[in-house]
Amino acid sequence: IELPEGLPSAAVIDLDAIAANVRALRGHAPGAGLMAVVKADAYGHGLVPAARAALAGGAAWLGTAQLSEALALRAAGLTAPTLSWLTVPGDRYAEAIRQGVDIGVSAGWALAEIAAAAREVGGTARLHLKVDTGLNRNGCTLADWPQLLEDALKLQADGLVSVVGGFSHFVSADEPADPVNARQLENFVTALDLATTAGARFEVRHIANSPATLSNPDAHFDLVRPGLSVYGLSPFPERPPHEFGLRPAMTLLGRVANVKRVAAGQGVSYGHTYVTSTDTEVAVVPLGYGDGIPRHASGTGPVQLGGRRFRVSGRVCMDQVVVDLADGGIGRVAAGDVAVLFGGAPGEPSAQDWAQAAGTINYEIVTRLGARVPRVHT
Ligand code: PLP
Repeated sequence: IELPEGLPSAAVIDLDAIAANVRALRGHAPGAGLMAVVKADAYGHGLVPAARAALAGGAAWLGTAQLSEALALRAAGLTAPTLSWLTVPGDRYAEAIRQGVDIGVSAGWALAEIAAAAREVGGTARLHLKVDTGLNRNGCTLADWPQLLEDALKLQADGLVSVVGGFSHFVSADEPADPVNARQLENFVTALDLATTAGARFEVRHIANSPATLSNPDAHFDLVRPGLSVYGLSPFPERPPHEFGLRPAMTLLGRVANVKRVAAGQGVSYGHTYVTSTDTEVAVVPLGYGDGIPRHASGTGPVQLGGRRFRVSGRVCMDQVVVDLADGGIGRVAAGDVAVLFGGAPGEPSAQDWAQAAGTINYEIVTRLGARVPRVHT
């Protein structure tokens, strides 16, 4: 994977990998449709190109957190069924109804605003009702669920809304043995039964994120809703993506800006937290915390140069990191060479390696990548 000439850095996104990952995920959930979650700029991979690739791979739905993200998909000409589930009072409901964006509803206030918007537009809002099965984040509590159903079905009878889905979200699907998973599924089934009794006819029931898609067939229902795995990353830190037939779509590259000699016993980068142990060479790579490289990975983040793996030497700076080449790299790396911070080829450091180095999760590594890093789609 190449860094286009003249660029200091780029995240190269393999769109075929995204399409292939969606095909693989459909193989993991053969009885269900697939909603590709493309929130947060498709986890840093570029909203519109990633969404197109996911659809090409067989995703029937797209999912976003904010309405603005779904509306951006519509503005780009993507007409696939699209759900947004994190809305706020005063949100762009009228525009969502005009554009046929499905809206996740967790509370009565939203129903009232959506009904008013539907009247204003003269349209019908498509709703997915969200029940909280244990996360205690968004979603309607089981106690309030019958009321939400009743109110939504009343609006449906008036032609203002169409209740097309019922959904929830897992607490710890990445820990399949945690009993909370089974409790949540029980609560979800209870909520679905209450919905049926109340007269709702959900076309799609969905709860499975990536880890549940990959590990828990009982959670697949009509639609699985993976995000991370669409981009070829594994939600299980100990299990690499290839175990699931997934391939990381993003490769983060930086072009070496300078290589120079540094004597033994010299401190490197801010605070001199790293000290050279021999006469050596250091390489400067133009990616720093201003690009989303976690400063917590100072001294630990892996960098591949000249086919060998090194670590960030000392502190991650705003615009750059420094790499001591002492361990086999002296004389082998020159300005202009390309460093791989993470990618998907065998032997390359991974986003998971960076997550471990920074004390975080791979989700954060790709999603927090900054706007200064060009996304190059291939
Ligand atoms: N569904 C909802 C409601 C989410 O918030 C998310 C992401 O956090 C997903 C699905 C996708 O989760 P994952 O990236 O673990 O597949």
